[in-house]
Amino acid sequence: MKYPEHFDVIVIGGGHAGTEAALAAARMGTKTLLLTHNVETLGAMSCNPAIGGIGKGHLVKEIDALGGIMGRAADVSGIQFRTLNASKGPAVRATRAQIDRQLYKVAVRRAIESQANLQLFQQAVDDLIVEDNRVIGAVTQSGIQFYAHSVILTAGTFLAGLIHIGLSNYQAGRAGDPPAIALAHRLRELPLRVDRLKTGTPPRIDSRSINFTELVPQHGDTPTPVFSFMGDISHHPRQVPCYITHTNERTHEIIRSGLDRSPLYTGVIEGVGPRYCPSIEDKIMRFADKSSHQIFLEPEGLDTFEIYPNGISTSLPFDIQLGLVRSMKGCENAHITRAGYAIEYDFFDPRDLKPSLETKAIEGLFFAGQINGTTGYEEAAAQGLIAGLNAGLFVQDKPAWTPRRDEAYMGVLVDDLITRGTNEPYRMFTSRAEYRLLLREDNADLRLTAKGRELGLIDDVQWQAFEEKQEAIIKEQQRLAGIWVRPDPQLAEQLGTELRREVNCMDLLRRPEMTYDKLRQLPQLAPAVADPKVAEQVEIQAKYSGYIERQETEIARSRRYEEAQLSPDLDYSKVLGLSAEVRQKLTQHRPTSVGQASRIAGVTPAAISLLLVHLKRQP
Ligand code: FAD
Repeated sequence: MKYPEHFDVIVIGGGHAGTEAALAAARMGTKTLLLTHNVETLGAMSCNPAIGGIGKGHLVKEIDALGGIMGRAADVSGIQFRTLNASKGPAVRATRAQIDRQLYKVAVRRAIESQANLQLFQQAVDDLIVEDNRVIGAVTQSGIQFYAHSVILTAGTFLAGLIHIGLSNYQAGRAGDPPAIALAHRLRELPLRVDRLKTGTPPRIDSRSINFTELVPQHGDTPTPVFSFMGDISHHPRQVPCYITHTNERTHEIIRSGLDRSPLYTGVIEGVGPRYCPSIEDKIMRFADKSSHQIFLEPEGLDTFEIYPNGISTSLPFDIQLGLVRSMKGCENAHITRAGYAIEYDFFDPRDLKPSLETKAIEGLFFAGQINGTTGYEEAAAQGLIAGLNAGLFVQDKPAWTPRRDEAYMGVLVDDLITRGTNEPYRMFTSRAEYRLLLREDNADLRLTAKGRELGLIDDVQWQAFEEKQEAIIKEQQRLAGIWVRPDPQLAEQLGTELRREVNCMDLLRRPEMTYDKLRQLPQLAPAVADPKVAEQVEIQAKYSGYIERQETEIARSRRYEEAQLSPDLDYSKVLGLSAEVRQKLTQHRPTSVGQASRIAGVTPAAISLLLVHLKRQP
């Protein structure tokens, strides 16, 4: 049956990529349909109940700065908030929250259901309708044909998903959900490179069977961080602690005794797993000299007894899982509610994508999330937002937009994927960004919200709040530059700085020992700004202005490369002087700019100069 209405954008999959994609496309005013297996699992967290962390928190703030849902949903469902790297510089500080899974899903579903221009439909998609290398729709399991101008595929770990527990395995998308087998077959017919990856999750434990009195609690931070620029700690639910336990020699012995039945160590699993989130069996083997690993016992929510033991992801047989859990302090009588498992799934080589996340081979078909070789909710959501936005622009016949590497971690993420590809699940780190000082969590709104507004992603409420904040920052900077402090030994001692000559407050704030809070002691400053986010921004911008300017100069220099566009039909055999190897790499990758070409492994600076000469010679 052909569905009577035609859509602008169809999003397949209601995970973290799919929900952000659908919301972004709909916010832009395009008529959007979200097709997913099960409406009850919209925004479901397949693995750890946590959002944010180093590099990932930056992505959440950027998603929020572009009007996305992840930060707001985390604020209303976060049950323990922390600022990681709090003692380090602002560039690497990162927000992380323990999440109540149910509250998170409720927040995402509410956002989806109250979004204008967005319709939901529950059913598996088995097929794509492709005509003349252009996607025009999707077909569900029961044969309903939905037509659209563009389709975004966000199938996560579901494509030909295969779950392993010990040496037994079965097909599934994740525990409790069906796999996408028909769609995986169909996708393998398309001219896209496909491979297998794997990821894993730990067993869950009933908290009533844990003896917490023996364990060290870990509480959230005060002041409590928030994710959304529109957020407030009053949005947070009740806060609870996590607990820490450890593996020990006995645990490691039990794990080693099960390796002959491990799908990882007997070669049953072929897909590559996440290097930065290894299974406990992997950790024991790789770090054989370590006699203990720290394990966080994290609550899965406020209304459940389930505990997520962070650090013991495993696909060992169940008897070994039970033994290893019970060997840890506090867990001697633990009852496992769900077994840990590994899952293998199909992913597509992201080098076959344009910066907009549209596939190069099939016009109008976009990929976002785990399907592109990434791991993590935040990485998926960031790609979803970029794909949703670009599908919207595609439908509106407008040029695509993806932030550059110097504008956002999202830009780093997309550029890394489409330029270098990945042969293991890719996760974000601050070390992946070359302009870390500019790409801070605290200024994500200042970097992106104006662009988001221009693209149609930001509603009036968020825009007004942003404009007010921006205005308040500028006003305060100007005011501080006009407030002068006379030499005064007593005041100097009070402020903990030197005051030998007259100095204005802006210059005072630039000193390493000064903070905005210390400045509040000056009677001349009254009334100081009340909004801590404005004060924080004024302080960070003052302190790091020298470094920031230096990075900006560097960026301006490299922009020449980023702005030099390379045509998709460029004949690299006509570029004089290129080696056969470089020519082959460029022909295969088809970079969109000289900047992107320069980041392809093996493309030398000499080759880049030849490319620039070639471009100059073109009429
Ligand atoms: P998903 O969240 O998987 O969502 C996919 C959605 O698509 C689902 O709603 C599904 O029902 C729907 N769908 C799929 N196929 C179809 C179809 N044919 N028709 C209709 N709907 C369809 N991340 C980490 O950061 N650290 C970890 O340690 C970690 N471990 C993990 C362990 C396991 C076992 C699993 C399953 C995932 C793990 N993840 C981990 C990954 C994390 O869950 C994903 O990165 C994230 O959920 C990806 O988001 P996504 O939107 O791409 O896909």
